[in-house]
Amino acid sequence: MTVSKGLFVAATALSGVSAFQLPQIHLGASSGNDLTGLPVIDTKALQELISADNLESHAKKFYDIAKLGEDEYNHPTRVIGSKGHEGTLSYVEAELAKLGDFYSVSKQPFPAVSGNVFESRLVIGNEVPSDASPMGLTPATANKQPVFGDLIVVENDGCDESDYPPNVSGNIALIKRGTCPFGTKSANAGKSGALAAIVYNTDKDEVHGTLGAPSPNHVATFGLSGERGKALVQRLVDGEIIDAIAYIDAVVETISTTNIIAQTRDGDPDNCVMLGGHSDSVAEGPGINDDGSGSISVLEVATQLTKFSVNNCVRFAWWAGEEEGLLGSDHYVEVLPKEENKKIRLFMDYDMMASPNFAYQIYNATNDESPVGSEELRNLYIDWYEEQGLNYTFIPFDGRSDYDGFIRGGIPAGGIATGAEGIKTKEEVDQFGGKAGEWYDPCYHQLCDDLSNVNYTAWVVNTKLIAHSVATYALSFDGFPERTDEVSVSSYDEKVKYHGGKLIL
Ligand SMILES: [Zn+2]
Repeated sequence: MTVSKGLFVAATALSGVSAFQLPQIHLGASSGNDLTGLPVIDTKALQELISADNLESHAKKFYDIAKLGEDEYNHPTRVIGSKGHEGTLSYVEAELAKLGDFYSVSKQPFPAVSGNVFESRLVIGNEVPSDASPMGLTPATANKQPVFGDLIVVENDGCDESDYPPNVSGNIALIKRGTCPFGTKSANAGKSGALAAIVYNTDKDEVHGTLGAPSPNHVATFGLSGERGKALVQRLVDGEIIDAIAYIDAVVETISTTNIIAQTRDGDPDNCVMLGGHSDSVAEGPGINDDGSGSISVLEVATQLTKFSVNNCVRFAWWAGEEEGLLGSDHYVEVLPKEENKKIRLFMDYDMMASPNFAYQIYNATNDESPVGSEELRNLYIDWYEEQGLNYTFIPFDGRSDYDGFIRGGIPAGGIATGAEGIKTKEEVDQFGGKAGEWYDPCYHQLCDDLSNVNYTAWVVNTKLIAHSVATYALSFDGFPERTDEVSVSSYDEKVKYHGGKLIL
């Protein structure tokens, strides 16, 4: 279940127009751009143009731009709505403008939900549990003041309004994780008159989720570890009365932000290879690896591609609002007319290319679960790493980045990554070096995701692979499956628990 669908429908007619009109504007290469002297795209030649120096100089610019966010956030950030993000967009546009008219560049503004929790506290009995945290996009408690009530156990998984006993009203609902999204549980709690809601995990750990698209029924909602949640339920079932205080000061607002799309004027506009990274960071830091690295890789490949002519169109995207739940890419696919959807032969996602404790990860996208062609793309990455004598691992294709909307839209997709908050195993140290038992990116979604948080070896390798993916499909789609009318993503849908970086369910 996607979280943003309903919310953005209203904006569709207003804002979605510019970007997907592109293919109609330019038919072939007769736009005054003299491409006759350019050599036809060649993967080896394009890969050779990728250098650590260029990536680093863009990274330094991204960090300087993130500092523009300091006034408002007290630290560097490129989160949507900040000066750091606006600066990032201006920088990408300015770099694209330097490339003359090789690309047709457009902006696609859209309304994005942005949430910020300023302060929060949960007190249960006499305890302040350290394993509780407010959900993303949670509203504040009433009047941004603490609310007081008894903990009331909700029946089943709290996915049905009838699961909420009458005495939830005026009290605090304690709900088990599972079956339906956190947002549904929060809204059901709100409808039943709860002052706040707590969703406890089904395994013993903490749970960090998001409520997704705002609803007027949402109430202030915390996630709680399964260990504590289950213990509380037991005490309540045994007849104990446990009171609680919940307090959240937060805002959820809708702001305008924008995707940037650049498409080659050259190449068959009915057969496009599309790729993207996200231009935004989280509020907590400058986001140099997440996803400065991917945005920069995509920008650098776009820059070097101008030295070649292409047979198929190449469309680059810098998505906004990824960190708020894939908002930009969802919006893009959602407003894409059917005939334009069909022109995108595949989408390649490049998010986090340079994690310090990296692994070469390939999304395990298969034709059984994802639109046909996803597996051929996966195999292109496998073949390339093998050719270079490099190891790789598969990671779940489970909704954590901007490929999600494309898969749901029936468009084959895939991508590579280098790891976020996952823990590197001993076997992976044998494969890639680095440190076992630590996160692939120890600064994931933190202030320290700065210039020292990128591994240039991994970054150059992966940017060359991005160049290879672009060059391959820009040259030819021979052997790559045609698009079909069939859109069946039910098995994909079943395993997806994420929508962006945070759990939704
Ligand atoms: Zn990311």
